[in-house]
Amino acid sequence: MSYTIIVFVKQVPDTQNITGDAMKPDGTVNRAALPAIFNPEDLNALELGIQLKERYNAKLVVGTMGPPNASEVLRESLYRGADEAVLLTDRAFAGADTLATSYALSCCANKIGKFDLILCGRQAIDGDTAQVGPQLAEKLGLPQISYVEEVEELTKKKVRAKRAIEGGYEIVDCPVPALMTVVAANVPRPANAKNIMKFKKAMTRSELHKAHSDADYTDAEALVVEEAALKEKGLWIQELTAEDVGADIERIGLKGSPTKVKKIQSVVLTGADFKNIDPTEVGVNSLIHELIEDHTLG
Ligand SMILES: Cc1cc2nc3c(=O)[nH]c(=O)nc-3n(C[C@H](O)[C@H](O)[C@H](O)COP(=O)(O)OP(=O)(O)OC[C@H]3O[C@@H](n4cnc5c(N)ncnc54)[C@H](O)[C@@H]3O)c2cc1C
Repeated sequence: MSYTIIVFVKQVPDTQNITGDAMKPDGTVNRAALPAIFNPEDLNALELGIQLKERYNAKLVVGTMGPPNASEVLRESLYRGADEAVLLTDRAFAGADTLATSYALSCCANKIGKFDLILCGRQAIDGDTAQVGPQLAEKLGLPQISYVEEVEELTKKKVRAKRAIEGGYEIVDCPVPALMTVVAANVPRPANAKNIMKFKKAMTRSELHKAHSDADYTDAEALVVEEAALKEKGLWIQELTAEDVGADIERIGLKGSPTKVKKIQSVVLTGADFKNIDPTEVGVNSLIHELIEDHTLG
């Protein structure tokens, strides 16, 4: 019985290191100016995917929508245990809000083909909306389980998962194919040395062409031969444009995004002046009164 699991991961700006030129004048994130990292909860989604691959002999396909250098998170996923990688990249996707992102990812999932499960992280640390997973399920007409900690059972008919709820957890049965958003309840395994040796040569079409142009050697035939050789060895990162996935240009990128991010800035909490409060009922009551007054409480 073969299973196919898709994991969508995101390359995010390292929000611990936001600098002045983080935003472009058009309200989109200036990703080139910020160090890029693997979205933390997507490492947990990937880890769950690898565990299911080992338990159910599943094929694990990892996908991301991003600029050409987002291939880095795909290589990292291959190092940790993914089987195949797909990069959805096109200038037309730039500036997407969650509506446009989830639509683009739904086109990508349909292009990848038949699957049993889609795994997403609960939330990305830059937009912080936790909207893409549930929106993607809706666009694909899939049932979804959010806040998944672990999977108890997977068959061709259903998945049984443990999801976090306030003060505890619940066990949920859900028909498959389904989408799950994953929380940080497992320990992502590190990259595997053998996989690093194998997949460090994995590349996208753009990277292959760039390697050739850097080497001043752009023989079209040689490119085709090398592409075929990379595919043969499982080292080909599929690179898909908006056209390749049949995306409606009006529903992607800035054009397809009703939400515009006006401004982002880092909020640095600094200690202002302080006040001694008497440890008495009167002292505490006057403090609470003051906090309500300035809308810190209530
Ligand atoms: C500061 C800031 C505020 C923003 N506020 C909003 C807002 O209020 N509303 C809005 O619509 N957009 C907003 N955006 C834009 C939003 O970040 C992008 O649309 C983004 O692509 C998806 O939203 P998210 O980062 O919140 O992801 P989330 O919804 O938190 O991501 C959840 C999961 O979806 C998957 N995923 C998300 N993006 C991708 C991707 N590109 N490739 C593969 N998988 C992915 C990952 O598994 C991820 O863990 C904001 C962006 C910034 C930087």
